[in-house]
Amino acid sequence: MNNQQLQQRKQKVFARGQGNIYPVYVERALNAEVWDVEGRRYIDFGTGIAVCNTGHSHPKVVEAVKDQLDKFSHTCVMVNPYESAVALAEKLVELAPGSSDKKAMFVTTGAEAVENAVKIARAATGRRGVVAFNGGFHGRTNLTMALTGKITPYKHLFGPFTGDIYHVPFPTKLHGQSTEQSLVALNSLFKVDIAVQDVAAIIIEPIQGEGGFYPAPKSLLQALRKLCDEQGIVLIVDEIQTGFGRTGKMFACEEAGIEPDLITMAKGIAGGFPLSAVVGKSALMDAPLPGGLGGTYGGSPVACAAALAVLDLIEKDKLVERAQQIGVQFGEYLNQLQKQFPDLIAEVRISGAMIAIELVTEGNANLPNTALTQQLIAKAPEYGLILLACGFYGNVIRFLPALTIEDDIIAEGMQQFKQVFTDLAD
Ligand code: PMP
Repeated sequence: MNNQQLQQRKQKVFARGQGNIYPVYVERALNAEVWDVEGRRYIDFGTGIAVCNTGHSHPKVVEAVKDQLDKFSHTCVMVNPYESAVALAEKLVELAPGSSDKKAMFVTTGAEAVENAVKIARAATGRRGVVAFNGGFHGRTNLTMALTGKITPYKHLFGPFTGDIYHVPFPTKLHGQSTEQSLVALNSLFKVDIAVQDVAAIIIEPIQGEGGFYPAPKSLLQALRKLCDEQGIVLIVDEIQTGFGRTGKMFACEEAGIEPDLITMAKGIAGGFPLSAVVGKSALMDAPLPGGLGGTYGGSPVACAAALAVLDLIEKDKLVERAQQIGVQFGEYLNQLQKQFPDLIAEVRISGAMIAIELVTEGNANLPNTALTQQLIAKAPEYGLILLACGFYGNVIRFLPALTIEDDIIAEGMQQFKQVFTDLAD
């Protein structure tokens, strides 16, 4: 069956809400390359939305998963646990930034990790409010939709939402929003909507993912850390998209030198196997009673085996450092492209291998060029590329290559991107 036939079959039986960006059906994938059912090859700059940090089908991950499958695939960690889950928790506790004693818990998706972090924060503080940021993305479940700071497509048609969720502006230099203004908005929230003593948690992405790859200024993260310490609020850092070496640090919040109270992790943790975690200060993590956290599949033995292999590779193959080099390599091409098209590219944002360009018209940051972004995404497969968009106005192209991507594949992919961009811009 070809791509078109498969897409027709899918459209008959899949709810349109679970759409697909590309009508390109995958046959196989290896490291940074994907082949479709028609034998066409693509360079994958999306890694399944920041998941396959060690590339597709890394032999070490495949071997670990096969070994586990030969032993057993599920017992439920809440019934009969197994060593790999304990070893993974030990590893994550050790890797999480800061010196406090920490514990971990496992669930399956990013949204679930965020839900559980909020549950833990509420149980630990006895408070109800949660503050999140405009443009942030935290998931598609009821609570995480409420936390997400973007209406379409995530929240439209889906209310009512859980209460006691509040939003404040996220600082973005390009759009003239400063850290000071965000902090003023936060203080005003405490006067207008909720007393600071009723706030259980503040949740923030250290670099907004779906929102457009805007890094949170260090000054904001440090001010939030101070505020949370002073007011007994739990600081939750959502590292679901930024974690596991992606940004040239193991966790992006290390850049600001802060220790979060709770960190949510998913995506890159297990190379494509459904696993997510909350890792945080032991006193907070132990607030919920036994049985209050978890789920049937949380910490699946297959996913834990994959995660241990992924973490081993990140360490042994120095993938955190490699992410930094990848950022430099992409920067050479993208900065040059910006020089060539200053009216169309307002900014090149690079945090290791979390890379984006923001597209505008007339060189004006306030005139998002969503149309060009959509055309680039639509045309990418013809140029042998898998690309993703993001951004509050859908006008950001993001590059999330595998941290194991080969130099010549970066060069080839960037040449192709330059070509598609030039063809559409002219
Ligand atoms: N938080 C962040 C920062 C994310 O990027 C995502 C997914 N894009 C989520 C939460 C939700 O993760 P999931 O789709 O696995 O539920």
